[in-house]
Amino acid sequence: MRLPSLPCTFLPFSSLPLFLPLLLLPLSSPAVNLSAQSLSPVERRIVAAVDTHTAEAVALLERAVNVNSGSMNPAGVRVVGELYQAELDALGFTTRLVDMAEVQRGPHLFAEREGSGPRVLVIGHLDTVFEEDSPFQRFELAAGNWARGPGTEDMKGGNGVVLLALQALRDAGVIDDMNLIVALIGDEEDTGDPLSISRRDLVEAGRRSEFALGFEGGVGGRGSATVARRGFTGWKLTVQATPGHSSLIFKEAFGYGAVFELARILDTFRETLVGEQYLTFNPGVALGGTTVDFDAMQGRGTTFGKTNIIAETAVATGDLRTVSLEQRERTKARMRAIVAQSLPGTSATIEFEDSSPPFAPTAANYALLARLQEVARDLGQGAVEAVDPAERGAADISFVAADVGAALDGLGVVGDGGHTVDEQVDLGSIPFMAKRAAVLIYRLTRVGT
Ligand SMILES: [Zn+2]
Repeated sequence: MRLPSLPCTFLPFSSLPLFLPLLLLPLSSPAVNLSAQSLSPVERRIVAAVDTHTAEAVALLERAVNVNSGSMNPAGVRVVGELYQAELDALGFTTRLVDMAEVQRGPHLFAEREGSGPRVLVIGHLDTVFEEDSPFQRFELAAGNWARGPGTEDMKGGNGVVLLALQALRDAGVIDDMNLIVALIGDEEDTGDPLSISRRDLVEAGRRSEFALGFEGGVGGRGSATVARRGFTGWKLTVQATPGHSSLIFKEAFGYGAVFELARILDTFRETLVGEQYLTFNPGVALGGTTVDFDAMQGRGTTFGKTNIIAETAVATGDLRTVSLEQRERTKARMRAIVAQSLPGTSATIEFEDSSPPFAPTAANYALLARLQEVARDLGQGAVEAVDPAERGAADISFVAADVGAALDGLGVVGDGGHTVDEQVDLGSIPFMAKRAAVLIYRLTRVGT
């Protein structure tokens, strides 16, 4: 049985005297004992089972880390996928590796089991940023129960949390009733194009699920979770202008040239759009002159121009990060309106390419966070706070967040140095976070919850 969501026992101590007549709790019960009593017998079995399997989880992490699964190494991604597939098969899931050769990436692993009650979609990934030519390839134990290695934190450690939680649910005898999908994505770090193929199965799983839980590492240690991540949109601005001798610039027949127009647009973006919460946009490259040769994929180009010729063309590319679809579309409209106010003798266009959608901080996500906070309290794990969305980049949960009822990310391990050769994980965070995840999944999948 769970406590109601606003138990008065969580009021600040200073307000207790006022409420004492209302409290039915024995005065001698300190908060810690209350917490212990709020786990049900089944939940206590789940927690004990996590401890039973922790050593195996660390051994599995070592095996997974020692297989290179850089995003551009599909064969290695497949081997890691098969490793987890065997574990999920043993837990009674129906599993499939979804081939992604058509987008030049390794496969995704999807595992599903049917039960009753709300369906929970659990998200991890198989790939890492470390390719086969990286010097960083091996799992190594480090001081203080930490371990170094590629993907230890991001996110083979998080996958380990997922498996450990599921094993505990199996041992406690409750997994058979559950509606669960585990999605371990093969190309999270360098997503295959087009998204309509590479994220097709994930989006489809999201449409059938009530809750999505992402096991990327938390940026705020053991006491944090992610209720929102900003989405990513690329943009390309192209300016054309009337060429002519520089001495004729600003005259009606020639106008202002492409470089001034590019500068006007970018500066107006800065003046009118900077400051809105969670909104950023960054022009990363700009080229202008008489001719421009720009390769947007490679992010490189050349330009030719002369000081005495009015610039004929200019181009800039950048990104746009937004926390909601509303913010994204509204900002695009504002940018288009600025682009349309051309200086004399110029014209400009802006194209947008949406990549990862925003994972918006909805009331439902905060309600799910409240349930996680309740689980953490009941486990005696202390407070869990939401991470500032501005601190989080895009992740796979963004592709399902708008379709599921509620989503949370950052439920994986605690570590540091992600995406560098100093990546490491706090091994103690694996069972710690697995207990939290297992009890949360148990409560979310109860019928009528
Ligand atoms: Zn990751």
